[in-house]
Amino acid sequence: MSYQTYADIIINISHENLDKTYQYAIPEHFKSQAKIGAPVVVSFGKGDRQINGYIVGLSQEPKIEESRIKPITKVIEEAPVIESHLIYLAYWIKETFGGTMNEALKTVIPVRKAVKRKEEKSVSLSVDLDQAKLLYYEYQRKNNTARVRLLGALMKDPILDYDEVIHKLNISRSTLLSLEKLGVTKTQVKQVYRNPVQCRQGFYNPVILNPQQQYIVDQIIKDYQAGLRSTYLIHGITGSGKTEVYMEVIAKLLEEGKQVIYLIPEIALTYQTVRRFQLRFGERVSVMNSRMSQGERYDQSLRAKNGEIDLIIGPRSALFTPFQNLGLIIVDEEHETSYKSETTPKYHAVEVAIERARLTNSSVILGSATPSLESYQRAKTGEYKLYKLTKRAKEALPPKVWIVDLREELKKKNKSIFSIKLKELIADRLAKKEQIMLFLNRRGYAGFISCRSCGHVMKCPHCDISLTSHSNGKMICHYCGYEEVIPSLCPSCGSKYIAAFGTGTQKVEELVKREFPRARVLRMDTDTTKKKDSYEKILSAFAAHKADILIGTQMIVKGHDFPLVSLVGIIAADLSLHVGDFRASERTFQLLNQAAGRAGRDSLHGEVVIQTYHPEHYSITTAAEGNYEAFFEQEMLYRKLMQYPPAAHILLILITSKEENQLIEVSEYLGNAIRELLRQRQIDAKLIGPAMASLAKANDYYRRVIYIKHSDYATLIQIKNYLEGFLNYLDRLKGCNYQFDFDPMNSY
Ligand code: ADP
Ligand code: ZN
Ligand code: ZN
Repeated sequence: MSYQTYADIIINISHENLDKTYQYAIPEHFKSQAKIGAPVVVSFGKGDRQINGYIVGLSQEPKIEESRIKPITKVIEEAPVIESHLIYLAYWIKETFGGTMNEALKTVIPVRKAVKRKEEKSVSLSVDLDQAKLLYYEYQRKNNTARVRLLGALMKDPILDYDEVIHKLNISRSTLLSLEKLGVTKTQVKQVYRNPVQCRQGFYNPVILNPQQQYIVDQIIKDYQAGLRSTYLIHGITGSGKTEVYMEVIAKLLEEGKQVIYLIPEIALTYQTVRRFQLRFGERVSVMNSRMSQGERYDQSLRAKNGEIDLIIGPRSALFTPFQNLGLIIVDEEHETSYKSETTPKYHAVEVAIERARLTNSSVILGSATPSLESYQRAKTGEYKLYKLTKRAKEALPPKVWIVDLREELKKKNKSIFSIKLKELIADRLAKKEQIMLFLNRRGYAGFISCRSCGHVMKCPHCDISLTSHSNGKMICHYCGYEEVIPSLCPSCGSKYIAAFGTGTQKVEELVKREFPRARVLRMDTDTTKKKDSYEKILSAFAAHKADILIGTQMIVKGHDFPLVSLVGIIAADLSLHVGDFRASERTFQLLNQAAGRAGRDSLHGEVVIQTYHPEHYSITTAAEGNYEAFFEQEMLYRKLMQYPPAAHILLILITSKEENQLIEVSEYLGNAIRELLRQRQIDAKLIGPAMASLAKANDYYRRVIYIKHSDYATLIQIKNYLEGFLNYLDRLKGCNYQFDFDPMNSY
């Protein structure tokens, strides 16, 4: 390997300074140690002060005149520091997922945005008690009542809160200042952390793990103590006690003096979850979430770095908590799309967790009731160790599932969005004063075209993905750009009931109110949850039985427990089945599974009604049976046939511009350049597109996509690196922006 000649050094690692790097030359004898992330000493400024820094980039090219580049004084090799580790991780993220080093560093280094530490100000005596008494009488004699009040209070309580002194004792700032000058009292400022977790009173109720749970804990701990580090996948149905397993493993790791990161999707990070962990682990637990202020979040990373907490609970970003002594990373609900970053670098938290664990000799536990195809595939090949929890921990019968064929409803002249079965069961639950959840699994941007008479869905002949309708009367494939005119008659049965499919939660609410005027209804979707606490408020109201029916999108399937819910209705399972995304079946299976898990969590016997035009579709039949294995086998056949992940990998390039013509020109040019690259290097990758993105325009920017498919991820990284270099020099890119996304999880 050829060593690099120059290093980019960052002197001040804080968010504001991440883009300020300085180039230094690497002396011959340091070349083998000069790696990304390595701490160094360099001469800085006019006086050649010796200061510390870190290597964040390496290159062969001088950026300024060579003679002006100073050499690195020293590469420090001693104890690894958390900063080097995180800088290396940033580099790995940039390489693996695209973007610049600066963007990656900003992802990994917490924001210290000039937030002042929270302060506690106090007032106390500078003199001893006897002196204070003398002064007290002296001031009394002089009728100096303010001074008397303060000394009197301080003689009872030697430390007073500053604000109380000012506001409750009514002492003016000038009085305080004069006493300070006389050396009688002093004002002190102590810096404290903002702590989002209040140590609430409560009692931790230990559970006795069942044999399945205990077995998993024993295996993981045995490995850990034997020095084996692995990635474990716990596949356990909803309510099977995964969280209890995590907690037991966490407890063991903490006993060994290790620190733990527990990732959970933001939407599931409720008061109840945090409290459960806090009751068991006490004050050394902290939380991160996007609702916290930057100050609060910064303080949590400081506490972590100083070793004052051992367990952090949070979404994706908690992955970068600067623990110095990490032992374990848990990723709960590992299949959730929120683990994929939506901004560059578009990293996947599971992959980064595994890399951070590798760097720190830690283990990783992934958990889900419906593992992602990627994870289950790896578990099957032995890359992960697979464990299963097959029974609900509390005695609860699995719900009874009804699949309703909406084509039959139309034949029975029922044009309402509620089937006869669902209406009947809603009326029954309302009469029994039990609760109902109605679920509209709506995702994606545009509607697909389907026939209400036979259920036929219009698909792309090349990609086997649903076509989506556009206002110009055409339907389009958002992978390859194929388009055709929307037919007026169903090509399968000739019926005229063929149209774009679409119903919103608001519409469902209206119709529920019309059918059941006496029912109390709550609705939860992006419209009703815009305010800060509205999400939590709606769920609490429903949990307190302040409504009979809760209508919502996938948001309602997480977090709270609703013991009175005994009916779950899925209005149109097809909505997520045909969103023009190769993960559509997987999402449908997951959503149906979660929604069904909501019915009858406690003692009431639950029922689930799934309304669909595709009662025979495998993601619906397997979800109704709760048969993940069967779903996995079917879905893998499709992924293999079409070469979608995990059977192969995809590199997506999103190109955007305010000028549509320029965008088309540039994306065509880029498509041709990639085709040429693949030909020259004899890479047998498949190029798809350029095509209009499914979200064709957003915030005034037009969007186009190119997909490259290949079985080897490393080859796609090579292509990405080549393109990054190439795009930097491309004049013709003027006005266009581009982004990379590997194995995309979101629709574009
Ligand atoms: P999951 O994370 O798989 O959804 P949880 O760990 O939250 O499951 O467990 C579901 C419910 O069952 C919780 O109320 C939990 O306290 C309870 N539970 C889990 N394991 C046991 C056990 N071994 N004995 C009694 N209750 C248990
Ligand atoms: Zn038809
Ligand atoms: Zn297509």
